[in-house]
Amino acid sequence: MTSIDKLIANTIREDVRAGHIYNVPDSSGYIKLDAMENPYQLPDALRAELAQRLADAVLNRYPVPSYSGIKERIRAKLGVPAGFDVILGNGSDEIISILCTATARQDKRAVVLAPIPAFVMFQRSAQFAGMDFVGVPLKADFSLDRAAMLAAIAEHKPSLVFLAYPNNPTGNLYDEADMVAIIEALGENGIVVADEAYHPFARTSFMDKLPQYPNLVVMRTLSKLGLAGIRLGYLAAAPALLEQFDKVRPPYNVNVLTQVVAEFALDHVEVLDEQAARLNEARTELAAAMAALPGVTVFPSSANFITLRVPDAEKTCAKLFAERVLIKNLSRMHELLANCIRVTVSTPEENSVFLNALKASLQA
Ligand code: PMP
Repeated sequence: MTSIDKLIANTIREDVRAGHIYNVPDSSGYIKLDAMENPYQLPDALRAELAQRLADAVLNRYPVPSYSGIKERIRAKLGVPAGFDVILGNGSDEIISILCTATARQDKRAVVLAPIPAFVMFQRSAQFAGMDFVGVPLKADFSLDRAAMLAAIAEHKPSLVFLAYPNNPTGNLYDEADMVAIIEALGENGIVVADEAYHPFARTSFMDKLPQYPNLVVMRTLSKLGLAGIRLGYLAAAPALLEQFDKVRPPYNVNVLTQVVAEFALDHVEVLDEQAARLNEARTELAAAMAALPGVTVFPSSANFITLRVPDAEKTCAKLFAERVLIKNLSRMHELLANCIRVTVSTPEENSVFLNALKASLQA
């Protein structure tokens, strides 16, 4: 053992030493359909105007931590009910981590519960905060197993339940009555996080239910709307609850450049909404084209990606990779996803490159 190995063994947590880095493949030279990004930039005229705003940004000072400019716009434009507020995160990834840090109690090991397969950061953040993660499998059609969820809630008494609406990696919206049953079963004993990362595409939301359920919070992001590069997520909830989360939020967690871009983009949010509407149309076309292919099952999606089952996911991914198209092979994530792949909906040109390579992989 070298001295650095000894240092690591003596200092770094065992579960971290045994773990792995969140893998993001190098995508240069590839058509990138693996990360649910919006393929469109802001129009040139807006980018020129934004460049001027960025040139004027105050970079020698820390950001003003109230973030009132962004918060006002989010409250006004994104449907936050009167009497509710938001906190901001460096992506919703950071919000997930803040939620876990605030609920990881020291007097007992707290539990995070989520249906699986789910967004991997729910489990990773729970683990890093020293919490137990309980995953309850979805049904084969990816709907919530309400009875199993309610039984798991009774048994494990989770502090936090994450419900992605729509879910990643399956793309579907859960049944609203199933979600409400979970929120009501938890009541004062647990917080339900409606993770609405794909809200720009789903256009349905639990936001307007905030006044009805004190244990409900709604998490969203600007990433999928077309601003993945600026890393801005937000959490809407009752101010008293937000105050608790705000205590564990790192200071200045949203930087000045993000602040400038977010305020500007929210002033022009209709442009981003129009891009999302275009992607929804492309999703309908791409899903229909894939469903017509022999041996392919396309699952319903309310997000900007489509999950499908192919005869041989390894072979399809290898063919797509050879054609320089990056998608996500979901096969190893969960048994419900055997031979499933996930593709982000993109421009008509990129969708057609993907579709042709997919067809070729099915023939060869
Ligand atoms: N929630 C879900 C369901 C997601 O799929 C993602 C990103 N893939 C996130 C949260 C995190 O988004 P971000 O950190 O970019 O805001």
